[in-house]
This record gives sequence, structure tokens and C-alpha cells, in this order.
Amino acid sequence: MSLGTLYIISAPSGAGKTSLVKALVARVDTISISVSHTTRKPRTGEQDGHDYHFIDERAFLGMIEDAAFLEHARVFDHYYGTAIASVQAQLAEGQDVILEIDWQGAQQVRRQLPGCQSIFILPPSRDELEARLRARAQDSDEVIERRMRDAVREISHYGEYDYLVVNDDFETALGELITIFGANRLRLPARGQRLRTLISDLLV
Ligand code: 5GP
Repeated sequence: MSLGTLYIISAPSGAGKTSLVKALVARVDTISISVSHTTRKPRTGEQDGHDYHFIDERAFLGMIEDAAFLEHARVFDHYYGTAIASVQAQLAEGQDVILEIDWQGAQQVRRQLPGCQSIFILPPSRDELEARLRARAQDSDEVIERRMRDAVREISHYGEYDYLVVNDDFETALGELITIFGANRLRLPARGQRLRTLISDLLV
């Protein structure tokens, strides 16, 4: 039985998911982030093995063939996937593990692991979403327009998730995430498993 819970966090790009998840992990030491594999090129400042495992398409297709992925999907013309190996060990150690994945990957994970919890992060408005995409300044207008369309498609899947968080005020959204993770840590049966010494002591 795995002691940790698997969490899926999805959002359209520009909703602030990555910053929120980083702040969450910095605050709560029982949570880890799964590092995905991708065929996209690293952006400025991104590190291999930290932000993603950056691999080429041939290697990615090889991993699909070896059934090494818990889920994988094609997003924005690139492959992204979660390797089973990196998730299993952390869950067994009692860590809660976050998968920052899109709606397609979320559907695959829910089918395989119905006990997972899923959270969707919304931007506070359409204007703010576009402003945040432009502020990144790494993409052309054409790419931003496409990302807006992709964002709307991603948001259309919000109803498949267990929790909704709106990232308007960052600290409020972070507090909501901490509440979700905190409440789930108290749930049976994993909580009972972590407290088995206390419980067997109480029941003698
Ligand atoms: P970015 O290239 O901006 O880092 O991520 C683009 C999109 O790919 C985001 O929606 C993100 O959630 C998604 N993504 C990142 N890693 C994975 C993964 O391992 N699996 C799936 N299905 N989507 C991912």
C-alpha cells in the first residue's frame, strides 16, 4: 500500500501553476514534484533533471515502447510524460507526489489510479491570462494566440477535477493548496497506516 497520495495539478499555461507548486513544496516537506520527460527544448534557465528530463523523440518513443510511462501526451507539438519509476518510490516512502500534467495525462492517471486527487488552477480572468502569457516574453504573438486557444481547451476540462483553485491573489491560492494537501494527509487508510504504532498502543 502506498503511504503517499498522488496529486494531479493541471492549469492552462499562464495560470501560475509552476510558481504555486514550487511555493507549496517549499512550505510542506511531505510533498515532492515528479520531474516529467519531454521532447521540447529547455527554456532559458531551465535545468535538465530539475525542470524536466529533456530527451529526444527517439528516446521518448523508446520509453513508450518499454511501457515506462504512467501517462504521456502530445502537448504544443511536443511529447511529455511521467515515468512510473520516479513516482512509485516516492509514494512508497510516504511522500505526496505532484504531477504537473495536462488534461489528457490526467485522464490516463485517473483511469489507472482512481485514488489520486486532482486540482485545477484557474487564472482570475481572460485578460489576466493573456497578460501573463505576454509577460513571459519568450514567445511570438502567433504562439501566444495559439496558447490562448490551447488554454481555453485545457480550461474546458475543469469539471473532471476534484478541486478548483483560482490564482488571483498568490498567497490565497497557496493557502488553498496547503489546505487541500493538509486535509488529505488526515484521511484513512494512509493516515491509519502512518499512525499504526499509536493505534496499536491505544487498542491494547
Ligand atoms: P511547458 O512546456 O510550458 O512546461 O508545459 C506545457 C504543458 O505540458 C503544460 O500544460 C503541462 O502541464 C504539460 N505537461 C508537463 N509535463 C507533462 C507530463 O509529464 N505529462 C503530460 N500529460 N503533460 C505534461
